[in-house]
Amino acid sequence: MKHDVNEYDAVAVIASDRKHVWHHITQHKQFEQNDPMVIVEGKGMRVWDAKGNEYLDMVSGGVWTVNVGYGRESIADAVRDQLVKMNYFAQSAGNIPAAQFAEKLIEKMPGMSRVYYSNSGSEANEKAFKIVRQIAHRKYGGKKHKILFRERDYHGTTITALSATGQFERKHQYGPFTPGFVEFPHCSEYRSQFGDVDDYGVRAALEMEKVILAEGPDTVGAVCLEPITAGGGVITPPQGYWDKIQEICKKYDILLHIDEVVCGLGRTGKWFGYQHYGIKPDMVTMAKGVASGYAAISCTVTTEAVFDAFKDDPSDRMSYFRDISTFGGCTAGPAAALANMKIIEDENLLENATQMGEYLMGRLHQLYDKYDVIGDVRGKGLFAGLELVKDRQSKEPVDESLAIAIAADCMKQGVIIGRTNRSFEQFNNTLCFSPALIVTQAELDQMIDALDNAFARLAPNA
Ligand code: PLP
Repeated sequence: MKHDVNEYDAVAVIASDRKHVWHHITQHKQFEQNDPMVIVEGKGMRVWDAKGNEYLDMVSGGVWTVNVGYGRESIADAVRDQLVKMNYFAQSAGNIPAAQFAEKLIEKMPGMSRVYYSNSGSEANEKAFKIVRQIAHRKYGGKKHKILFRERDYHGTTITALSATGQFERKHQYGPFTPGFVEFPHCSEYRSQFGDVDDYGVRAALEMEKVILAEGPDTVGAVCLEPITAGGGVITPPQGYWDKIQEICKKYDILLHIDEVVCGLGRTGKWFGYQHYGIKPDMVTMAKGVASGYAAISCTVTTEAVFDAFKDDPSDRMSYFRDISTFGGCTAGPAAALANMKIIEDENLLENATQMGEYLMGRLHQLYDKYDVIGDVRGKGLFAGLELVKDRQSKEPVDESLAIAIAADCMKQGVIIGRTNRSFEQFNNTLCFSPALIVTQAELDQMIDALDNAFARLAPNA
């Protein structure tokens, strides 16, 4: 594929972008010092910028999103056909793709029953929080309204989703936050607070119980967790963790809300991350990979029991879920999601994610053997991270500038990799990799070569 840079005026596009667009999560010095990167085209695993540079994208559109790769005509056709036929009617009425996608989605999620549509991961989580709050009022006189979340987990950008987020770097200067959200400690085995112990997973889960007991179990309605912490450092759960978390939720009658915004659909080699750990959730939220970024869509999926909690109460005309989202479920989103799911099935992309994920982990471990700056290798399927440290013994994090320089070096070599959020804490330096589920061994090798070059140049062993 050859990118045609003559189809527009690259200098003008870059100038307009630089002058008028406020890019997400970008420091002003970047606006001032550099030309912005303007991505103009994508095909398969590759994207091109306005200057005609080609990149191998190992982060699926920057933030774990384009799971089936770029340039999928079947998705574009499905969206176009749907929009011409019926573009919009509010979700108080149904539409064909919304019904069809909900049915297919529920088939992949035994135990789950209802799909509530919205437009982004943050919004899907907000819906789940509202469900918990309303159940608290309907069933528990408003008492069981608190929602627990974990240090290092991210649940979105709105003020309430941030209130449920355990990352200082995302929350700093955005308070005051919504009351009733309570944090408990992370479960990073690498950064274990108990030393080297056999039952780390159980101990980490018991930290949640301590917080429940301190708050009062009759005040806690739900816990919201990522199956694998993504932006907080690609933190995979330790052995035994999820069994204990579920046991505690049952014990205190607490709803389990799993945030699959990154892990769903297929990123970890199963449809959902929670399906690796025997988790039986009450609510699951998802967004990014649902339509691989071809249209905006997110879902809050619940069990029938959660749905039933909103059954009409003749004595209370306000008893139903009084929530609405203008664009949720209408109609490009579910049309794109249906076509996206068909690609994952037809091309056996869950299998590819599993096989290529194993290959990727093997290659990352080879880098670990070669460079002392790599403190830990973590991941599941096509979702992996390398945590960088000054010293393997002390685990002191490297300076953030090193992670930035390594990512920039890879970019110069034509490979886009990711970094977890900028932070003032210990977890700040994890490089992350989340290629589309179509990735090949040769493409993973290209990324590993780029990383190898970057480490050799910037972080050779002493
Ligand atoms: N939940 C998780 C785990 C995420 O990683 C994100 C975004 O990165 C969100 C929620 C928020 O999704 P959105 O940016 O679509 O609102």
